[in-house]
Amino acid sequence: MRNPNDVLRQTFGYPEFRPGQEDVIQAVLNRRDTLVIMPTGGGKSMCYQVPALCLNGTTLVVSPLIALMKDQVDALVATGVQAAYYNSSLGEREARSTLASLRNGELDLLYVSPERLQHPGFLEHLRAVQLSFLAVDEAHCVSSWGHDFRPDYARLGEWRAELGDLPVLALTATADTTTRADILQQLRLTDPAVFVTGFDRPNITYHVMEKQDPAAQLAEIVERHPEESGIVYALSRKRVEQVAERLQKQGIEAAAYHAGLSDSVRQSVHEGFVHDRIHVVVATVAFGMGIDKPDIRYVVHYDIPKNIEGYYQETGRAGRDGLPSEAVLLLGYQDVITARSLVEQGSDPEQRRIELSKLNAMVAFCEATSCRRQVLLRYFGDDSGKPCGNCDRCLFPPETFDGTEEAQKILSCIYRVGQRFGAGHVIDVLRGNSTARAERLGHTGLSTWGIGADRSAHEWGSLIRQLIHLGYIQQDLANYAVLKLTGESRPVLQGIERVELVKPPPPRSRKKKGKSKRAAPAPSDLNPKDQELFTLLRSIRLQLSKQESIPPYMVFGDKTLRELAVHKPRSPQDMLALHGVGQSKLEKYGSLFLETVATFGESGKTE
Ligand code: ADP
Ligand code: ZN
Repeated sequence: MRNPNDVLRQTFGYPEFRPGQEDVIQAVLNRRDTLVIMPTGGGKSMCYQVPALCLNGTTLVVSPLIALMKDQVDALVATGVQAAYYNSSLGEREARSTLASLRNGELDLLYVSPERLQHPGFLEHLRAVQLSFLAVDEAHCVSSWGHDFRPDYARLGEWRAELGDLPVLALTATADTTTRADILQQLRLTDPAVFVTGFDRPNITYHVMEKQDPAAQLAEIVERHPEESGIVYALSRKRVEQVAERLQKQGIEAAAYHAGLSDSVRQSVHEGFVHDRIHVVVATVAFGMGIDKPDIRYVVHYDIPKNIEGYYQETGRAGRDGLPSEAVLLLGYQDVITARSLVEQGSDPEQRRIELSKLNAMVAFCEATSCRRQVLLRYFGDDSGKPCGNCDRCLFPPETFDGTEEAQKILSCIYRVGQRFGAGHVIDVLRGNSTARAERLGHTGLSTWGIGADRSAHEWGSLIRQLIHLGYIQQDLANYAVLKLTGESRPVLQGIERVELVKPPPPRSRKKKGKSKRAAPAPSDLNPKDQELFTLLRSIRLQLSKQESIPPYMVFGDKTLRELAVHKPRSPQDMLALHGVGQSKLEKYGSLFLETVATFGESGKTE
């Protein structure tokens, strides 16, 4: 039996296991039934790919996502692994030849869709060959408790019994305790080893920005990632199309993706993205489940997601390769109100209650004045202890001030208008902005009329939201988002309690576009010369990937190219020591990259 560490190094070219991987692999090698809960990008695939290469026989991998299957198999083949897939996308001839390879014991891994697995004839094929274990990817799909139930997945447990005592490794990124228990039961795992690894994705920088000029804000983010891959999530199809179109007009290789497009269009967007022809995909949540691209450098939420689970899963698609990546959420308060009213329209009251509390948790994350990562991890019951140093709150700590007077002005104004109006009108009264409505209601004569003329509407909005968040104001969502006082308001109005507030962010000035401190690009840690070599290596990678019709990242990941640019290996031996360089890729691409590095060094000297 091959040693897992050797497989990791020689075949995949990775120096060490990521947290959790080794324990899982050991359990599988010991033929234990195993359940793994690991965040997206945590490295689940390695948990079955490595033991598949250690053990004799073929490993079956069940996966619900046909697109993902092909990508995974292509990546494995590019690494020199004998892998194939068997699903409805195969023509008859291909299907037959795949089965023949299986019979001949040539396959280390066979990816199968659940419906193919349950084909009666297929079971006969499987009985005739040596199998090592069954990996069930996206295992939460077996559970009707999960968010993505698939009936043909639910029959896997039954089906498995037909194959005797084949050990099972179930893997998923998202599972609460109920779903987790259900997976164990549905798949009939006996005496299972269960591994739950942390939810932290330290290489992702989290930002929440107030949505002020979203088009310009998005353009800034895209501009700091030239030629790099990113996903922009928006909530409606219409918005998706508008945003994609605008980016295209700015000369960006962008495409729209949503459920209203034909299969073939979606397929071609997916492929274009994976092959780096399309740099930015603007999508509804429909995009992403089948995306396994490791070098997505940024994920932008153009609209607030409905819950933290979704946000975490979508942002988790950034930076699977472990390199610095960013997640930016544009927070529009009108969007929050729209999202709330959408939830309110749901017919099932229990469902409504759950969705509303999830949305509130999402808003609380956006409003948090302390470390974002801590808020996120705590939501998943994972406490990291200290602030992360890699989110907007840690990098640009918000400035606070004694906001007692402002709070008093707001609270008394809410009281004077009879606790019957939303933030917009309260702000008009505070600022003495004579609207027809204020005139008609006689609010221009109130004692609080115009007491807040010194601050902009934007600033008052920010302060009001903070007071809502701190519990001094209640926003009656069921009733036109009317603002009301709470039990907490009185001590503030009486001057007994002091209120510490965050200084409202300055409004964006159009002139200084692109220069705001918050939008500072992550500085590249490569020096200019290395950066130049890196760019050159990328272009070679792109050519190779075109020649072989595989996505660029399957040639080498960005991390490998960066190491090449920095360490400038001189021999195949040197190159083998780099991240992501295994035997097979060294043979295929080693000399070309080594030559490039050498020639680049020469040209540097003569300059
Ligand atoms: P998941 O399925 O958990 O979302 P993947 O299995 O796709 O994550 O892994 C994400 C990326 O991390 C892939 O590009 C994979 O090759 C890489 N990776 C996995 N394990 C390691 C490791 N031990 N060292 C370096 N890279 C790894
Ligand atoms: Zn932080």
